[in-house]
Amino acid sequence: MERDVLRYDLHMHSKYSKDSFNEPKLMILQAVRMGLNGIAVTDHGSIKGGLKACEELRKLKSRGRVPDDFEVVAGEEVMTDAGEVLAYYIQDEIPKVPLEEALDRIKEQNGIASIAHPYSRGVIRKAFTADIEKVLKKHKLDALEGFNARIVLDGGNRKAQQLATKHNLAMTAGSDAHFLSEIGRGYVEFKELPGGLREAVKKKATIPKGSNRLAFFYRSITLANVLRKKI
Ligand SMILES: [Zn+2]
Repeated sequence: MERDVLRYDLHMHSKYSKDSFNEPKLMILQAVRMGLNGIAVTDHGSIKGGLKACEELRKLKSRGRVPDDFEVVAGEEVMTDAGEVLAYYIQDEIPKVPLEEALDRIKEQNGIASIAHPYSRGVIRKAFTADIEKVLKKHKLDALEGFNARIVLDGGNRKAQQLATKHNLAMTAGSDAHFLSEIGRGYVEFKELPGGLREAVKKKATIPKGSNRLAFFYRSITLANVLRKKI
């Protein structure tokens, strides 16, 4: 299959988040069905879903159910005092810590750090509240989320893209799926490079894409997940 342009959905949740029931194996199969080349599993405060998905990917590949070049990135949506940060390619879970510590910990693990939905808040999510210029002086931030399919008003994504451009940051994008049917509603597109996604982020070559048409619907029904999990 032609792999000139790759599509990765870089924000989604599994059953290891308190507001989702998604099974990692089914997430991978759904992503393949949607024509994606890779996903990042980014549970709230947990790396378990990401690690589990990597394990499931190996099994699925050995049975020939998933293309050999499909990639799963283990990640986490880390809660900080200044909003949420998406951490990619990490090995150790990061608890809720101040923003600057979260960025340091991601860097220590040779991970990629991206600010999640900088202009969107909700019942669970937080908008970004730190002064980005100050943060960038001392800490390494690779990207910010230029498209999140759960942002109800288009302005939130547009402003995020402007912010990334202003500070010369790469952009990540994702569905923020809490249900399987959302996977692929947001993604980055990039030309295949030898260094894969890492190189694309480094070169600021990832293009955010997707549709937020059902954002309000999906965010509303996610609240039911939170309640069901508490019972
Ligand atoms: Zn999320």
